[in-house]
Amino acid sequence: MERKVRVRFAPSPTGPLHIGGVRTALYNYIFARQNGGDMILRIEDTDSQRFVPGAEEYINRSLAWLGIGIDEGVKEGGKYGPYKQSERRDIYREHVKMLLDNGKAYIAFDTPEELEAARKEIPNFQYDATTRGRMRNSLTMPKDEVEKRIADGEKYVVRFKIEPGRDVRVDDLVRGEVVINSSILDDKVLYKSADDLPTYHLANIVDDHLMEVSHVIRGEEWLPSAPLHVLLYEAFGWKDTMPQFVHLPLLLKPVGNGKLSKRDGDKLGFPVFPLDWKDPKTGELSSGFKERGYLPEAVVNFLALLGWNPGDDTEVMDIDTLIRKFSFEHCSKAGSKFDYKKALWFNHEYLMSKPDDELAEMVMPLLEDKGWTGYSREYVAKAVGMVKGRANLVGDLLEQADFFFVAPTEYAEKDVRKRWSEDMPRIMEELIGVLEGIEDMSSANAEKIVLDWIASKGYHLGNVMNAFRLAVVGACRGPHMFDITELMPKDEVIRRIHKAIVTIK
Ligand code: GLU
Repeated sequence: MERKVRVRFAPSPTGPLHIGGVRTALYNYIFARQNGGDMILRIEDTDSQRFVPGAEEYINRSLAWLGIGIDEGVKEGGKYGPYKQSERRDIYREHVKMLLDNGKAYIAFDTPEELEAARKEIPNFQYDATTRGRMRNSLTMPKDEVEKRIADGEKYVVRFKIEPGRDVRVDDLVRGEVVINSSILDDKVLYKSADDLPTYHLANIVDDHLMEVSHVIRGEEWLPSAPLHVLLYEAFGWKDTMPQFVHLPLLLKPVGNGKLSKRDGDKLGFPVFPLDWKDPKTGELSSGFKERGYLPEAVVNFLALLGWNPGDDTEVMDIDTLIRKFSFEHCSKAGSKFDYKKALWFNHEYLMSKPDDELAEMVMPLLEDKGWTGYSREYVAKAVGMVKGRANLVGDLLEQADFFFVAPTEYAEKDVRKRWSEDMPRIMEELIGVLEGIEDMSSANAEKIVLDWIASKGYHLGNVMNAFRLAVVGACRGPHMFDITELMPKDEVIRRIHKAIVTIK
């Protein structure tokens, strides 16, 4: 019988969710949707040392912004809960006991000092079949002594007893079959009595089983723990429900070699987090895609293509298309370079595809921040619509269209030198008269009248038009001049020309 697809995104709340983690969440989500499956969000917070307040909430807000929907989780609920590991202590305790009872795990009392001493004494020390016989554990001590020590409150850990010399097969949809000999694995700590909590390994694997996870889709950095996954499933007798593994390629630096880091982002000026994050301890600020002016659809599209391709050259794909086309067959094994310039390109594409009215809605709050208020949504929509071809980020829309909202206070020096000749103030006075006489300021009409006037006077077309632009915009940039003057109130245009005449020297 085909198994129901159930996938989980299982972040540890140890800081802001990195963009690589977001890609993992996205692939899980896409795969779940494609197969009519369930998407679980499980919070893996058993490492109390590394817990960071606010991180879980940040994960929720990030996924919500990107439209990565969750079917079962802390907020959503579900019949496999609780979905936060710190609330599942009883379950883990019970499972540790199962392994101890059937001899698949043992209790170890070695102190950090003793472990350190062993490391010094034995070259390449690893707690495993070759060394466990000389350490202080329930395999080397009489049963009553073990019981007495526990009763006396001595701290201990539970270790997984790995049988050496076995080829462990991990079946991975991206990497194929990965075979690892069990002799290289150490007897992993599964539980610590000190805080009565399991380690990541036990909790992660027990939960995958209990939550009936069908596919473990995660970053390549977790590949080394996959053999343990297999061995623990076997030790518990769950072999028949082993999940299918999928380890996604690493995200690499845009230039050079190695894993993408926050430092790369800082250096080259791009975010590696979905949202802004302020570290609660250090106060350090990390910038997010959202606040930088990226659209969630663009980020989703860009991330989807970091490690996967549709098998042809198609690049712009909305989430429904991604869900339709996605397959692990077209995921690469090789790491994927984080090409942030491509992210800008995607964002530009998505900005261009938005109705001007929606763009206006994004820009209105930015206008508010600047104190440039009192503009109708219709005016803003027309203004940003004229400049969107030159915008990559939401903020660029305002930067390119700023003159629609505020008169220039200075004039680009280079343009002044080139275009503002001695007789220009007089010509601009004349232009004011011409403009005042135009009833219908629609682009084509105003253009015809002004150009006829320039021709009849024998003026230099380029110089006059550029001076006109300089006065209204403040520099020789922007959309078609008569599109600008169609939208901008005529008295404002005239006021700006007056101001340029008296200001520009
Ligand atoms: N808690 C792990 C993490 O932080 C989960 C790894 C996995 O998906 O198994 O990414």
